[in-house]
Amino acid sequence: MTAITRYLKSLMLLELLKGMSITGRYFTRPKYTVHYPEETIPKSNRFRGLHALRRYANGEERCIACKLCEAVCPALAITIDSEPRADGSRRTTRYDIDLFKCIFCGFCEESCPVDSIVETHIHEYHFEARGENIVNKQQLLAIGDRYEAEIAAARAQDAAFR
Ligand code: SF4
Ligand code: SF4
Repeated sequence: MTAITRYLKSLMLLELLKGMSITGRYFTRPKYTVHYPEETIPKSNRFRGLHALRRYANGEERCIACKLCEAVCPALAITIDSEPRADGSRRTTRYDIDLFKCIFCGFCEESCPVDSIVETHIHEYHFEARGENIVNKQQLLAIGDRYEAEIAAARAQDAAFR
């Protein structure tokens, strides 16, 4: 393009008019912007958010302290201590997940033989003090108790693909 053509184009504001025509065209079209957090989009059943430990319907915790999740975690985010109970079953005495280390890969829930550790749809959480990034067993069980219905429904919908 010669300098003269460029000069004439800029004189006639052609580029500006072209831009304005695109703006005008999109002005009346449906908007794609989601006004989060007032508006949200649907989440997949496989969404990997905050972790939870689940219980059976009778209230017994599912986790059998096999430590598969701890072994498989690529980020070394899970720390488990365990000991046998009076009835001979093995249970965790400590189950910590460091959410600063976690990369939300989902390996822990994939490896769990009893569907105990799961990742929920929860992604809106924050920490206010040092150390809150480490979520302990009681907190994980409390999340599981609170969201059990949603966790069970999501897993039931995904069961055919597992
Ligand atoms: S989601 Fe992945 S990184 Fe996070 S605790 Fe589970 S296995 Fe570890
Ligand atoms: S959460 Fe599952 S994989 Fe992890 S120790 Fe418990 S039973 Fe084993």
